[in-house]
Amino acid sequence: MVALTFDADMTTYMEKQLDRGEVDSYANPRLIAELRRLKVPATIFMTGLWIERYPRVAAGLAADPLFEVADHSYDHEAFSTPCYGLGRTGDMRLSLRRTEALLDRLNPGHPRFFRFPGGCYDKAALKAVAAEGLTPVQWDVVGGDAFATSPDAIVKQTLDHVRGGSIVVLHLGGGKPSGLTDKALPAIVRGLRERGLRPVTLSTLVGRP
Ligand SMILES: [Zn+2]
Repeated sequence: MVALTFDADMTTYMEKQLDRGEVDSYANPRLIAELRRLKVPATIFMTGLWIERYPRVAAGLAADPLFEVADHSYDHEAFSTPCYGLGRTGDMRLSLRRTEALLDRLNPGHPRFFRFPGGCYDKAALKAVAAEGLTPVQWDVVGGDAFATSPDAIVKQTLDHVRGGSIVVLHLGGGKPSGLTDKALPAIVRGLRERGLRPVTLSTLVGRP
């Protein structure tokens, strides 16, 4: 089994890019359609700002039994710094609570997984996550779709590193970066199946928190 996970990032800076028309969209409906067409279970880590920006897309994902939705912070600010240039969040627990409230409205039964923005954490961050009853989830395979310039690079990067039990991180954003993920997905899924690996949700892979 392998868990394909997709992060739905949204920062206040990304919102400004959308408002200024510099980026068309940070949702990728083609990717969601591909996951459905290929019947690939997936776990979607959503930021609160992304849910607020794309409420209907978020609700559609949350209502689809093929997917599970989980917490990726409210505004994708870092829980420890330095973290790839991300700003540091002022109140970690508030960031978690606001996002959990949005997720609860979409699907009250969603699993209490949390992914740190940028994967950055320290002891205090782990404590805050535990205090909110959430289970942090990292990854062992980076699909590289945030920086890829071709779908083939995402396919190769993923399939070169994946093995049974892997958690793969990819992105649900449709703008730049990661607008190529939907084009990489069919070959990734084919490659997994050729290796005898079955895509499942995170809850299936590691158990429900
Ligand atoms: Zn992220």
